[in-house]
Amino acid sequence: MRQNIVAGNWKMNKTLQEGIELAKDVNQRVNAITPKCKVVLGTPFIHITEVVNVVDGDKVAVAAQNCADKVSGAYTGEVSAEMVKSTGAAYVILGHSERRAYYGETNAILKEKTDLALANNLRPIFCIGEVLSEREANTHFDVVKSQIKEALFHLSADDFGKIVLAYEPVWAIGTGKTASSDQAQEMHAFIRGLITDKYGKEVADNISILYGGSCNPKNAQELFANPDVDGGLIGGASLKAEDFLAIITAF
Ligand code: PEP
Repeated sequence: MRQNIVAGNWKMNKTLQEGIELAKDVNQRVNAITPKCKVVLGTPFIHITEVVNVVDGDKVAVAAQNCADKVSGAYTGEVSAEMVKSTGAAYVILGHSERRAYYGETNAILKEKTDLALANNLRPIFCIGEVLSEREANTHFDVVKSQIKEALFHLSADDFGKIVLAYEPVWAIGTGKTASSDQAQEMHAFIRGLITDKYGKEVADNISILYGGSCNPKNAQELFANPDVDGGLIGGASLKAEDFLAIITAF
């Protein structure tokens, strides 16, 4: 059966020292409970090795927030999937809307990144979601379908099964405006339907689909109670151990 996952996305926040303290705090709090989900910390690249060293990997895993679309070589400033893997990270967040919007990441580029992540035994947390104008124009299902189809549907069923999807309506990210529980469930069920059509029910039933977009200690329980919402990708509320823990315990 599919796994519940709560993943934090620290984005470009926390110095190395602050990040280590936050990771220690989260790890201690997670170890004091019996979480009903896998916990993932999506840290900046420079934090990964240190964070890996202070968390209990069976409960708290570490994700990079990106990786390069090239194997290796003369790409100044880039970090390859192989390099990410060598730090001890188990996951990589790919296709976050901020990467798509500010760094020109297209579905075609994300297809390359996904292939490289999987080839290096990293599990992609693959983000999809529509912007406000697309929802208002009622094209949100088509947008999400294209994002998944163009970046992921070339994968074998075996490889697709390693993907974690994160539905993040862009209008809800960092805005304090959350998708309603019904809107989240509706899209998650739609996504699972797409996967069923392409790979069959067994693969679809085993894929974790996370919700992201202003998820917080107040709304997490209602969102996670939906049958097709298997946890969350958490931005702002992952920067405080107390808030993050409240979300982890929302199952
Ligand atoms: C995110 O960046 O993935 C995110 C969901 O951010 P926030 O929780 O702050 O909306």
